[in-house]
Amino acid sequence: MKDNKKQIVTIIIIFLILITILIAYMTYMLNRIEANTNNSIETIVKNDANNLKTQITEQKAILQSITNEILSDNIVDTKKIFDMYERSDVTSHFIRMAIMYEDGRTITNDGHEVDYSDEIDNFFSNNEIHISENRISKIDEEEITIYSQAISIENEKITILLIVKTESYKDTFSNKVFEGKGFSYIVNKDGTIIVSANTDKETGNLIENIEQMLVGSSRERFEANKNTIQDNIKNEVSGSRTLQTTDGQYYMVYEPIGANDWSIATFIPSKAIAGEANRALLTTFILAIIVIFIIISICIYIVISNNKKQKQLFEYAYIDPITKKGNIYYFRKKGQEMLDKEKSKENQYLLVLDINKFKMINKAYGYKTGDTILNGIGEELEQILGKQSLICRYSNDYFAVLFEYKEDIRKIVNTLVKNIENLKIDSNVYNLSVNMGIYKLTDADTNISVAMDKAIIAHSASKGDVFDKFHIYDEKMEKELEKESKIEQEMYQALMNKEFKVYYQPKMYTNSEELYGAEALVRWKHNGKMVPPSEFVPLFEKNKFILKLDVYVFEQVCSDMKTWKEKYGKEPVVSVNVSRDHFLDEHFLEKYMMIAAKYGVNTNNIDLEITESATVEAGIDIIEIMNKMKKLGFLISIDDFGTGYSSLSTLQDMPADILKIDKSFVDRIGKNEENMIDYILTMAKELKLTTIAEGVETKEQRDYLLEKGCDIIQGYYYAKPMPEEEFEEYMEKE
Ligand code: C2E
Ligand code: CA
Ligand code: CA
Repeated sequence: MKDNKKQIVTIIIIFLILITILIAYMTYMLNRIEANTNNSIETIVKNDANNLKTQITEQKAILQSITNEILSDNIVDTKKIFDMYERSDVTSHFIRMAIMYEDGRTITNDGHEVDYSDEIDNFFSNNEIHISENRISKIDEEEITIYSQAISIENEKITILLIVKTESYKDTFSNKVFEGKGFSYIVNKDGTIIVSANTDKETGNLIENIEQMLVGSSRERFEANKNTIQDNIKNEVSGSRTLQTTDGQYYMVYEPIGANDWSIATFIPSKAIAGEANRALLTTFILAIIVIFIIISICIYIVISNNKKQKQLFEYAYIDPITKKGNIYYFRKKGQEMLDKEKSKENQYLLVLDINKFKMINKAYGYKTGDTILNGIGEELEQILGKQSLICRYSNDYFAVLFEYKEDIRKIVNTLVKNIENLKIDSNVYNLSVNMGIYKLTDADTNISVAMDKAIIAHSASKGDVFDKFHIYDEKMEKELEKESKIEQEMYQALMNKEFKVYYQPKMYTNSEELYGAEALVRWKHNGKMVPPSEFVPLFEKNKFILKLDVYVFEQVCSDMKTWKEKYGKEPVVSVNVSRDHFLDEHFLEKYMMIAAKYGVNTNNIDLEITESATVEAGIDIIEIMNKMKKLGFLISIDDFGTGYSSLSTLQDMPADILKIDKSFVDRIGKNEENMIDYILTMAKELKLTTIAEGVETKEQRDYLLEKGCDIIQGYYYAKPMPEEEFEEYMEKE
């Protein structure tokens, strides 16, 4: 997710850089275009000035040639002078020609007579050609410009005047290049407008007019440079300026014509300057932005879809689909990261748990509910151990949690056990049985897998334990486990090597003290030592090897019974212990039947011992199993009676034959604690059950039991469990 953001930020930065480059380029291009256009405007204006100069020079030359002709031909006659003019091909340049006399009387070629006596000084100044200011014609009130040259013929002084319409200068302007968007003026050296190329109305002083139109800082700047511009125009120097006016920005160029002290001033709006180029540039700009935008969008799309894929991959690899918590890979990865990060592991715990017989739950409720329960367990763990705890379901119904807890760990784990064993989902309550293993981390822990192994060791120690729901790891456990794993490695081999021996412990009638039968008890002759069942039966119950061992013992018993029958013509009743795990296998009795049949043993002489606690096991229909046993002819004993929690009513429903009273009750005889054994014996009699007292060691116990009517006695008082050969001797003696 972080990578995602980083990548998108990178893309946006690249985008911004590209845009900046683009804008910089555009600005540069705009400046260049402006500079180019400004240059070309200057060229155009220079050209205009030149044209005007040529026009004026030409008109001056015409006047010069006319006066030259008058002088050389010595033409005095006015009429002749006018004739010469009218015959020439220059008339198109002028409105008219006039001759002025020294008294100011002026006559024109088209028959007007005007009085210029007030301007004698202007027109008779010298023999040079003089060009007048723009002025109003006295004849027809048009704006005119007068070219004049004074000459002397035969002692008479006259001035030849050629008159042009000032307007005619307009045609020399070529600012039509800018589609008529610009303005051009001819000004005199004071800046007074002589000709306006665009409108006839524009008059007055150009500089002042400009000033009126300027806005803001442009006006201030202009103010500062005003004198320079005025001086430039006065001194016939060219120049240019950008002006910000109420109508927008203008580029102004002024250029002296080089005749008559006139200058041309042209104003082109910036809009018109950039014009076409700007549009092209803008199009390029927009296109570039679109292209960049598309590329960036594609990049972002790729990044996002890549990340989505990565997220999906992450989920496949690390998320448990049922609980939506991590799986074992996630747990190892994250857990390791946490161990690496945090130097102090104080108050850190690793908890491992599983649900007992989860397969049965799946079978009973269906897989969908099974999944709901697993999910519920995940939620419960998070609820109690906190959101920061690292939770994973690492296989089937196994969970692992790495969490921190500062108070008494037993308290919170007890809560956890209680809540999980009475798991509430929506309004349903599921009764589960859970076992947990807890490992308290130390600062020396650097490897998550090693820490987890320790929690698993603690868990195995508690596994299947109905009372101790959780174990906290200690080093002894590991040794214990090592021992167990060694046994597990050796048990199959031991079975094949016939290391398991069946011992028989005689059972005697209490009153006659004659042999009733025996209980078959297994021993393991391991490395020359006789190992008692207490050291391996609990483990074999856990790992189910007991199923194989029981069958092995049963077959051995049948084989022995066959021998005895052949030898002595009769068989004693022999009881065998049947572990409760057999009851989960529907066909276990068929197997037993086949073995009994194989040796020709009468099942009436075989007693199957079922512990009382096995009869109350959830999920087993013990009555049905017992009925089946009875049908096949077996006797049934309830073993270790008094230690389980069966009620009288359940006992009543059971088709059992014998009640084996647990040794703990026999031990209380003679200690004023006989009330329980008395009660059991009375009850058994009522239910018409044969009673056997286990673990009878003293005469006192035997006498008491005789007195109370206990039918059979088994215990060291008569004999310890013994090998088959010894038991044979025992039988013979009896
Ligand atoms: P259990 O079925 O209650 O067997 C009776 C136990 O009491 C035997 O211990 C026996 O040696 C012992 N015992 C009998 N009389 C006395 C006495 O007077 N004093 C004392 N202190 N003990 C006496 P053992 O042989 O060590 O067997 C222990 C348990 O192992 C058995 O208890 C039974 O639950 C289990 N076990 C033994 N053999 C098998 C087997 O083949 N299959 C199964 N599933 N369990 C077996
Ligand atoms: Ca037994
Ligand atoms: Ca017993």
